[in-house]
Amino acid sequence: RAKLQGKNNYQFFKIEMNEAAVKRLVFENQLRKVLEREELCLYYQPQIELISKRVAGLEALLRWENTTLGGMISPDRFIPIAEEMGLIVPIGEWVLQTACKQGKEWLEQGLPPVRIAVNISSRQFQQPGLLAKIKEILEYTRFPAELLEVEVTESLFIGDDSVRNCYKMLKELQEMGVKIAIDDFGTGYSALNYLKRFPVNTLKIDRSFIKDICVDKDDAAITTAIIAMAHSLNLSIIAEGVEEVEQLAFLHFHKCEMAQGYLFSPPVPAKQIEKILTGGSIFQTISTRS
Ligand code: C2E
Ligand code: MG
Ligand code: MG
Ligand code: MG
Repeated sequence: RAKLQGKNNYQFFKIEMNEAAVKRLVFENQLRKVLEREELCLYYQPQIELISKRVAGLEALLRWENTTLGGMISPDRFIPIAEEMGLIVPIGEWVLQTACKQGKEWLEQGLPPVRIAVNISSRQFQQPGLLAKIKEILEYTRFPAELLEVEVTESLFIGDDSVRNCYKMLKELQEMGVKIAIDDFGTGYSALNYLKRFPVNTLKIDRSFIKDICVDKDDAAITTAIIAMAHSLNLSIIAEGVEEVEQLAFLHFHKCEMAQGYLFSPPVPAKQIEKILTGGSIFQTISTRS
C-alpha cells in the first residue's frame, strides 16, 4: 500500500513538473512572437516637479497584451525571461524607438517638451551595440537627446568587467546630452563610490523606502539621507511610488525635487498623456483634495 502511494505521488509529481514545463514553453513561444504580432505597447507615467508642480518627465513602461496567456502580463514577469532568451535586445530597441518616436510626435503637436525616461536592463547594457543603436534611433526619430533619460539599476556597477565596459557607454551617452538615472536606488548592494566615478544625473529613491515614510523612522531617515546626498552631489532626485498626500508632504518638506506615483497618475496610454500635458497640472486636483 505504501509502495502504491509512493508511486502515485511520484506520478503526480511528474505531471506537475510537466505542466510547469509546458506552461513555460507556451510562455516562451508567445514571447518569441511578441514583436511580429505587435503585442507590446508603452504606457507613460508622469514625473512631477514639486516646486513648479509641472510634469517634468514621463517614464515609459512596457505592457504586453496576449490573449493566449490571458490578458496583460506584467513586465516584472516577462522581462527576466526575455533576458534569458536574449529577446531583451530587440524588445529594448523597440522600446527606445517607440518612446523617441512618440516624444517627437508630442513635440510636433506643440505639447510642452518633457523628458522621457526609458528603462534599460543591465543585460542590455552588456550589448556592445547599444550605444550605436541609441544614436541611430535619436537620428532617425529626430528626438532631442537632451530629452532622453535612461534608467539603469545599481547592478550595472557590480563586477569589474561590466563596470569598465559601461563606463565608456554612460560617458558617451552623457556627452550626447542623454540623462542617466539610477532606478530603485538604495536596493542594490554596490558600493556608493560609483556615484563619484560615473556620469549620473538622477537618483530614483525606491518605492520600498517611500511606502512607510510617514510611520517608519528608519525609512524616513534613509530617504532624507538620500535626498541630502543627492543635493550635495548635485544630482536630481525623484521619489518613486508616491501614493498618499502625507508622503508628498514629507517629500516636499525635505526638498525632494520630483515625485512619481499613483497619487499623481498611474502609467497611462499615450493618448491620455496628451490630455495631461495640455490640461494643466494634475497637482492642482491633489492639493484641493487634501
Ligand atoms: P520600475 O522601472 O521601477 O518602474 C516602476 C514600477 O512601479 C512600474 O511597474 C509602475 O507601474 C509602478 N508604480 C508606479 N507608481 C506606483 C505607485 O504609486 N505604487 C505602486 N505600488 N507601484 C507604482 P511596472 O510598470 O509593472 O514595471 C515593473 C518593472 O519592469 C519596472 O520597474 C522596470 O524595472 C521593468 N520595466 C518596465 N518597462 C521596461 C522596459 O521597457 N524595459 C526594461 N528593461 N524594463 C522595464
Ligand atoms: Mg524605472
Ligand atoms: Mg523603480
Ligand atoms: Mg524595478
